[in-house]
Amino acid sequence: MAQEGRYISVILPLRLEWEPCYRLPEGMEVRPGDRVRVLFAHREYTAVVEKTGIRPQTAPEKIQDILGTENRIPPVLPEEIRLWRAVSDYYLCSVGEVYKAAYPSLRRDQEEAGARQRERMERSLAALRLKMEKARREDTRERYRLETEALEARLSGTLTEVQRPDMDLTPAQEQAAEQIRTAFRSGKTVLLDGVTGSGKTEIYLQLASETLRKGRNVLYLVPEIALSRQLETRVGKVFPDVRIFHSGESAARRQETAERIRQGKGYIVLGTRSALLLPHNGLGLIIVDEEHDLSYKQDSPAPRYHARETAVMLGLIQGAHVLLGIATPSLESLYNAEKGRFTRVNLKERYHQGAEVAVEIVDTVAERRKRGMTGSLSRKLLSRIGSNLESGGQTLVLRARKAYAPMVQCTECGHVIKCPHCNVSLSLHRNPDRLICHYCGHTEPFVPSCPKCGMPLQPLGTGIQKVEEELRALFPSARIESLDSDTPDAQEADIIERFARREIDILVGTQIITKGFDFAHLHLVAVLQADSLLGVQDFRADEKAFQLLEQFRGRSGRRDEPGTLVIQTRNPDHPVFARLQGLQTTNILEERRLFGYPPFTRIIQLVLRDPYEKRVSFMAGELSRALRSRLDGGPAVIGPYAPAVDRVADRHIRHIRIMLPRDKMLLERKKAIAATVISFEKERKYAGFIAIDVDPA
Ligand code: ADP
Ligand code: ZN
Repeated sequence: MAQEGRYISVILPLRLEWEPCYRLPEGMEVRPGDRVRVLFAHREYTAVVEKTGIRPQTAPEKIQDILGTENRIPPVLPEEIRLWRAVSDYYLCSVGEVYKAAYPSLRRDQEEAGARQRERMERSLAALRLKMEKARREDTRERYRLETEALEARLSGTLTEVQRPDMDLTPAQEQAAEQIRTAFRSGKTVLLDGVTGSGKTEIYLQLASETLRKGRNVLYLVPEIALSRQLETRVGKVFPDVRIFHSGESAARRQETAERIRQGKGYIVLGTRSALLLPHNGLGLIIVDEEHDLSYKQDSPAPRYHARETAVMLGLIQGAHVLLGIATPSLESLYNAEKGRFTRVNLKERYHQGAEVAVEIVDTVAERRKRGMTGSLSRKLLSRIGSNLESGGQTLVLRARKAYAPMVQCTECGHVIKCPHCNVSLSLHRNPDRLICHYCGHTEPFVPSCPKCGMPLQPLGTGIQKVEEELRALFPSARIESLDSDTPDAQEADIIERFARREIDILVGTQIITKGFDFAHLHLVAVLQADSLLGVQDFRADEKAFQLLEQFRGRSGRRDEPGTLVIQTRNPDHPVFARLQGLQTTNILEERRLFGYPPFTRIIQLVLRDPYEKRVSFMAGELSRALRSRLDGGPAVIGPYAPAVDRVADRHIRHIRIMLPRDKMLLERKKAIAATVISFEKERKYAGFIAIDVDPA
């Protein structure tokens, strides 16, 4: 006879559509949120108790006992589980997948590492106190005092008698802040639309201060780690107890931060999207800076969530206000503002007035004809760099390709060296010379003769290392560096610091240099081969290019001196450039409405990955047929089709896209799609090959 009250359901860190049932052994008590160890399919997992005292659906003799409880780990908060459910419903993934993302490395050794770190911090606190007492000079003692306080704050989680200062806002900023407060009072999410340099950050800090003074907590999101590093100092000056949270922090440190936050006593966290999944408690304000940034969307694995949407969900659960900051609003947010879901607050005045940024377009086809090009650089750009150097200004050069050259080709037979695991060419990297696949990381030595015919191989195209080499040859006395996502963290931090100290004149880089840089002497920013940013297949590529260029343009002219953005392109008449120059004619939102593209529809993308090409083609065809019949004429099902890179890491890839109208049927249809995929996986024994991506980037 099944004994009621002895059965519980648990959330496993897996892609499961249901919460399995377990039995509690005699004498063991648990509550929802507690962590327990269980066996599932012969493997041991740490699961979260979902419900207790449930009535089992299966025969009691088939139900296993839990193996034990993890009572050293604090329980998951009910609000966390509510967020996991909201994310799982929206992004069509399992609750367990969200749990896994929130608690990626729950391992005992790490918790113990956390304890060791604490001991270390306590030791250095004692040392600091000693130094402070012994310091003779007033300013040295003051410095030790500040360090001691900061460390004490880190150890205790809060500053005792913390001052939460007011920022010194300009009248325009104060007016915007007041509009935001008013909108917050009526429960609205706010879209702060302010040009770069208008002081959005100052407004965030002011509102954060007010929130903390009320005893509520603050979450401040940035799209990337590099940006959080730059903001760390600025935010740290106002809030010495700010906690940093992103994947670049050690696991022990992240664990420690999570525990502080769970206690919920006056905290401010600065982090990337994963900070949304912390055990938040008493949150009063969520700031999402640069809300349009593509890095906010998780690509893989599930949950494939976007920080903006998830912040709104978290805000609802926590009763927290949500503030989205932007220089160029995403269409998604413009749509929400138009629908009255968001309140838009404008801040069009730059703090440092007069810092306008002129745009100059250089037509590289015409220039080449006139012999106006030296390698990948136009004479027009070179003369601007030259005079900027002379006047002591700094320059950023953007080229959206890593490495030295994106391709090597045989001069004789035309053979291109490709990755053995992916359908892409290998990139040539210098110092040391080697070929690297930017999709799977495959690396091989560079042998400069063709494997087919033995004739010499030639690098084709220009990556940032090549641009750096060209610039060094042209400006031998200038201090030049380059930066891309391969640059090790420590080196990246070093380059940014040196740039801030004006020890670098020209910095060449990929997209990572378009964000966050706020430097007084940066007067010139230039884009090479801007065409590589423009869209061919993807209707959204132009929008992305525009936002990237607008963001990049904001890097220069940050003080009272005007700046210049130079764009080298083969398509000088492209509408994206016209829009940058303020010559825009079409209304993009209107265009999207006309064609039924997002944000007027929602896209759900199904991605199939399979080692066997024949099988993936067949399955993708069958799946799209199944979807068409299930959705029955309503939404458009596009594909299956092979994406531009159709094999990565020995997996063949096929996509299916579904455009869902944003109407009453939306939720129901999303559920129908998920259900179709699940039953397809079961019937065809094809589990593990299909990923669902809602609102793909
Ligand atoms: P945004 O975040 O909108 O790009 P920032 O907050 O970075 O703008 O401001 C741009 C620059 O102007 C920064 O160097 C900042 O320190 C300065 N600034 C903006 N507002 C103020 C203010 N009220 N008082 C002092 N400096 C300000
Ligand atoms: Zn590869």
